[in-house]
Amino acid sequence: MGLLRESVDVCFGAKLVRGAYMLQERQRAQQMGLPDPICADYSATSANYDKVSCFLLDRSGPRCHFIAATHNEESIRLVIHRMEDEKADRRFVSFGQLYGMCDQISNPLAERGFAVYKSVPYGTLPEVLPYLARRALENKGVLKGARKEHALLVKELKTRLLHRGVTAL
Ligand SMILES: Cc1cc2nc3c(=O)[nH]c(=O)nc-3n(C[C@H](O)[C@H](O)[C@H](O)COP(=O)(O)OP(=O)(O)OC[C@H]3O[C@@H](n4cnc5c(N)ncnc54)[C@H](O)[C@@H]3O)c2cc1C
Repeated sequence: MGLLRESVDVCFGAKLVRGAYMLQERQRAQQMGLPDPICADYSATSANYDKVSCFLLDRSGPRCHFIAATHNEESIRLVIHRMEDEKADRRFVSFGQLYGMCDQISNPLAERGFAVYKSVPYGTLPEVLPYLARRALENKGVLKGARKEHALLVKELKTRLLHRGVTAL
């Protein structure tokens, strides 16, 4: 972070993620004789994530921009509360979710004036499927989020249909 000194003509940008590749990163570190880079458990990863996001938030500005790329509502709430408490400039902090997932998080964030990015896997089907399969296997949290989103969509659909006078579903 020494690079952020005013006198240095560079900027710092980071996409902050919890990390999707726990198995591969652990294996790679073992093969290379490096220390295990994965936190001991989920709560340690979350504590680490929140600590780093507060660290970056305190330094956010024209030379330090970060994107909180997460589907975790607690982590997002923490960033928002800190931003509001410290009157942080919204131009330097953004949020990111995967396209097709967690619109129930992205939409309210956008409505409240935060910059929200949706990450889109791009490529041919054979290229993209392994990525999606990896995510599904390694990240049960995303599937949990998808179930929640599905339930919210069904609820919204019912509300709209009932509003139009359709009573039997
Ligand atoms: C916009 C966007 C871009 C992304 N880009 C990348 C990328 O470039 N590279 C990348 O690797 N990932 C990327 N991800 C995926 C990200 O790293 C997470 O896997 C995913 O978002 C789920 O984490 P979460 O913060 O949303 O929340 P949660 O669902 O609350 O957390 C799940 C995460 O917790 C951690 N975890 C779970 N169990 C354990 C355990 N037993 N021990 C230690 N940690 C555990 C893992 O990191 C897991 O992914 C991206 C996600 C988004 C939304």
